[in-house]
Amino acid sequence: MSFFSYLQNLDRDKLKLKLYSTTRDDVEKALITPVGSLDSLLALLSPAAEAFIEQMAQRSKALTRQRFGANVGMYLPLYLSNLCANECDYCGFSMSNKLKRETLSLKGIDAEMAVIKKTGYDSILLVSGEHETKVGIDYFKTVLPRVKQHFSYLAMEVQPLKESEYRDLVGLGLDAVMVYQETYNPDTYAKHHTRGKKQDFAYRLGTPERVARAGVDKIGIGVLLGLDDWRLDALLLGHHLTYLESRYWRSRYSVSLPRLRPCTGGITPKVELTDKGLVQLICAFRLFNQQLEISLSTRESAQLRDNLFELGITNISAGSSTQPGGYVNPDTQLNQFDISDERSAQEVGAAIKAKGLNPVWKDWESAWIPTHSP
Ligand code: SF4
Repeated sequence: MSFFSYLQNLDRDKLKLKLYSTTRDDVEKALITPVGSLDSLLALLSPAAEAFIEQMAQRSKALTRQRFGANVGMYLPLYLSNLCANECDYCGFSMSNKLKRETLSLKGIDAEMAVIKKTGYDSILLVSGEHETKVGIDYFKTVLPRVKQHFSYLAMEVQPLKESEYRDLVGLGLDAVMVYQETYNPDTYAKHHTRGKKQDFAYRLGTPERVARAGVDKIGIGVLLGLDDWRLDALLLGHHLTYLESRYWRSRYSVSLPRLRPCTGGITPKVELTDKGLVQLICAFRLFNQQLEISLSTRESAQLRDNLFELGITNISAGSSTQPGGYVNPDTQLNQFDISDERSAQEVGAAIKAKGLNPVWKDWESAWIPTHSP
């Protein structure tokens, strides 16, 4: 059964009712057996768990250090293109937004990489709008080998591709794919995605399964917090993660928990997730899944990020630009969304060290290739 069918069989109303009628007793029970239990995750995401945030934070912090040591992985997005054939009302790259469109040539990518390499980064996330004719598989097949020459770990956040295309890209050095469902509510999804291929909820939802079958090492899933009820969306993210881990156990998984940010022509959040709520969410996922990588982008403020580093976050970006060519020309105005933490990578690295943690710029060496099976 695909995750799309799995989701169709879930009773959203019943889950929502359960979330909002959870009691203190339920949360106390969940805290005894949180690992891998979707019922416990539900309780930890409920309003009733707000009274336990301090306890959850202490445990989350200890579990994260136990599994990941004092390490915080550093990655940087490299925006390849802001061309997009979709209309998503929360995104500055939406096709109807009047902004200068640009797709980086190999020369442009080389220039961006030269600036990025000087900052010490060795993990790169290639990002583009979703425009399959102009920024499609042929473009990616040209770009990946070039980028892989300079970065040991290469992730992509682009339009959903076919399984065979992901397989081809794995052969060219692809290590990870980030593909976010934005919301697990099909009605809300339809309201916010009004033009283009992204309107196909089921195709997007099936993407992590295609990525896993193609043998990609790491798969990132997530929701855009603020589009719909964040507690329910987060719970369904937990269902999605459990579904994937139980079937495609050869891949590793990460979740991203971005809150809706202002952008060109965009909307304001309908359902606000407070800072306290974000802490609850991170801790609930850490207690639920101790192997899980949790990443945090520069959408959050410097002060909040400094506090969250310790609690359960394992990967962060810093000194990011969200526009093509933005590292060479930081003044261009083509941003996908506004950045809140505007510190340089070095400043964020120093803030991580001040917390007694270790910013890790490189934790992957692609030179080792097995030559035979044991
Ligand atoms: S969210 Fe992605 S698909 Fe939607 S407009 Fe932005 S870049 Fe395009």
